Amino acid sequence: MRKNEVKVREIPEDLSAKLDEALEAIRGQKKRFIKCPFCQRNTIAVFDDARGHVEAKCPRCGRISVFDTFRMHRSVNKTVRFTY
Ligand SMILES: [Zn+2]
Repeated sequence: MRKNEVKVREIPEDLSAKLDEALEAIRGQKKRFIKCPFCQRNTIAVFDDARGHVEAKCPRCGRISVFDTFRMHRSVNKTVRFTY
């Protein structure tokens, strides 16, 4: 196997059912993006029912940030506004 090759496996049936439930749960919800505070690239997508904290690595700059999905809202000019 080459060094950068990603090994992909079959999804177990119970996990596949959970993924299907998640897709059903977001049906009709709006999706918004939270940008990386360092480079402003869209880092995570969150749906209307998102609550809690998420740690994510920015795909552009590689920095890791913790996002409060409930309190970080998009402002009217479509940039992320940090509310704390
Ligand atoms: Zn970044």
